[in-house]
Amino acid sequence: MKCIFCTINETVLENKLAYAFFDKYPVNKGHLLIIPKRHVEQYFDLTLEERQAIDDLLFKGKELLDQQHQPDGYNIGINCGEEAGQTIFHVHVHLIPRYKGDIDEP
Ligand code: 5GP
Ligand code: ZN
Repeated sequence: MKCIFCTINETVLENKLAYAFFDKYPVNKGHLLIIPKRHVEQYFDLTLEERQAIDDLLFKGKELLDQQHQPDGYNIGINCGEEAGQTIFHVHVHLIPRYKGDIDEP
């Protein structure tokens, strides 16, 4: 099965089993997505090697964003399943830079 993330071509980081690229609708400046190259729907169906490849790009992505934007913190998130908010059914890890004062206080 193929999906839009199987055909992504604007990657910024790559290793043997994973890619990283910028989110098309970023929730914050520098929002990165990290995916396995193989089409897998759920995080829990990844192999250990794929999880390690994703983790490698998570750290490399942080280095890149530290250089580009100097964020003050990060959110790392994975939505697993429709009920959990997953909208694209090809595993992706969100790496979201956070900046001091970026939360709208009530
Ligand atoms: P989910 O809600 O499934 O965890 O996140 C899907 C993410 O994919 C969203 O943050 C959304 O903005 C992003 N997205 C949707 N379509 C595209 C696309 O065509 N290209 C890129 N780079 N990101 C996309
Ligand atoms: Zn896919």
